Amino acid sequence: MSSIAKTLYKIKRFGNSLFTYDCISCGKAVMGCCLCEKCLSENKPCANYHNGCASAFYYEGPAKDVVLRFKFGTDNALCFDTLCDWLLLAFEKLDERDFDAVVPVPAFGFDKTILSELAEKFSLMADIPFHPEYLRKIRRTPKQHSLSAFERRVNLIGAFEAEDSVFGKRILLIDDIFTTGTTAAECSNALYDKGAEKVSVLTVLKTRYND
Ligand SMILES: [Zn+2]
Repeated sequence: MSSIAKTLYKIKRFGNSLFTYDCISCGKAVMGCCLCEKCLSENKPCANYHNGCASAFYYEGPAKDVVLRFKFGTDNALCFDTLCDWLLLAFEKLDERDFDAVVPVPAFGFDKTILSELAEKFSLMADIPFHPEYLRKIRRTPKQHSLSAFERRVNLIGAFEAEDSVFGKRILLIDDIFTTGTTAAECSNALYDKGAEKVSVLTVLKTRYND
């Protein structure tokens, strides 16, 4: 079943690659990608990672434009493919790549978010089972980006709860942007509380805040 889904996704991606788009960052016409070659080359790779966290690029320049379009735009199909590629790029940076489940950072009140769709596509491409049900958000919280660094740290305490079935599992947590690490830490705590063996964190982009 998963190989059929993977094939269908590859066909859809091939279809997307035949169209011309405007580069999201500079507006120049480009085939099959949401950034032109010049803007792609301006993305700054995150070479560093620590504590089982990896990201593809820094949250700045054209890469930031793509993630903002993905989060807040309506025509984000092509960004979707690009971000899936960037998650795979980040995945290659992890020392250990043996996982039992891909789990997206959940949102309160939603089973399916655009982030969970991205995480599901990534899980197909990386051949890791997708288990969004392993982690849920149990209360509504103010948006992290609207808060100060201190407020971010306390905002999410106790906001996530993991299923008992994560016991002994190696989990790959997926988010779009790594900022202060608070979201990743709170989700990891919830998973470790229920006995997860290991939690690693993969994000598309990372701010320079923690460098
Ligand atoms: Zn461009």
